[in-house]
Amino acid sequence: MSTLKFAVLAGDYIGPEVMSAALRVLEHVAGQENLQLDYTQADVGGAAIDRQGTALPASTLQICEQSDAILFGSVGGPKWEKLPTKEQPERAALLPLRKHFTLFANLRPGLLYPELTDASPLKSERIPHGIDIVCIRELTGGIYFGQPKSTTTLPDGDVEAIDTMVYRKSEIERITAVAVTAARARKKQLCSVDKANVLETSVLWRKTVTAYIAEHAPDIALSHMYVDNAAMQLARDPNQFDVFLTENMFGDILSDEMAVICGSLGMLSSASLGARSNSLGKPFGLYEPSGGTAPDIAGKNLANPCAQILSAALMLRYSFGLEALATRMEAAVRQTVTSGIRTGDIAFGRPSVGTIAMTDAIIANLS
Ligand code: NAD
Repeated sequence: MSTLKFAVLAGDYIGPEVMSAALRVLEHVAGQENLQLDYTQADVGGAAIDRQGTALPASTLQICEQSDAILFGSVGGPKWEKLPTKEQPERAALLPLRKHFTLFANLRPGLLYPELTDASPLKSERIPHGIDIVCIRELTGGIYFGQPKSTTTLPDGDVEAIDTMVYRKSEIERITAVAVTAARARKKQLCSVDKANVLETSVLWRKTVTAYIAEHAPDIALSHMYVDNAAMQLARDPNQFDVFLTENMFGDILSDEMAVICGSLGMLSSASLGARSNSLGKPFGLYEPSGGTAPDIAGKNLANPCAQILSAALMLRYSFGLEALATRMEAAVRQTVTSGIRTGDIAFGRPSVGTIAMTDAIIANLS
């Protein structure tokens, strides 16, 4: 019997609700497939601040270190908003986790089932077959991590803040390699998004991606697009992209735009992979929904559990090599939604079900 050893960091507000749904689904498929789940739950984010005084306790990091993957919920919310920025749950838990495990590649599927085109703010005629694209975002470089980073009161009393955007060729090459793998698994089309008409880092980005593809992946059709145009094109005709690759801050913004055009954040999963292999020789990764903690609906059995369940499926695929099982879980989610069983965020005036009933239906479709 194979054992799946992973850390469970549910986090705040809807985090524990959707995590409990994903764990129920995982327990179900593990029972069917004769797999043993060996997971440890640990505090993170606001919950960890409340219980242990810090958003990423050393004990949590140790549990992650001893695991083959991290299944993450989401962190933050109004309860901790008044803390200094550095101590805020996202900044003090998620960014250090990404940095600690060098999770430099964020894969976000932008998937909208054709049956859910109503959920998108785009006109249905622009997306008659839904949306099916992938964003690959560099996650540990760029302006979020570059130094110096400071806020200073100047002698004349004015206040100056500095962030620094830094990229190395090696960082761009390793994320391009991930994008190539993703593109090869799909249509072999890759669009690299930058701001090479203005930024030095983008000039290096474009040059490096172009050289990498020419040398290592001539089978990939590479195109380049400026980020401002990419933001427009995503809203105009998202399916013109297949896989797009971009740096950290541009990816943060474009992937959120992608989430909006794909309907509900409650449907979108993500995987963050790094340089490190786990004990199975597969990529160590952190898997989480694209959305946040949704404080507005927390504790009411209203949250859509699909994003967390689909994130668990990505964990099975990438960190445990269980492709067929991941595909089966994805199919069960799709079957549930297309059969009309929906949480409020994707119901559009039709009757809706709660988190627990939605999870029951997904489990029934797995049986
Ligand atoms: P959010 O993603 O939590 O919510 C935005 C909207 O989407 C809300 O209306 C919410 O109800 C809805 N939504 C999100 N997930 C849903 C789900 N599973 N089912 C149904 N509806 C869902 O964004 P926000 O309100 O800007 O942020 C709330 C908190 O989450 C903030 O503290 C923010 O910092 C934090 N946050 C954390 C992460 C993370 O942990 N990775 C990411 C984004 C935001």
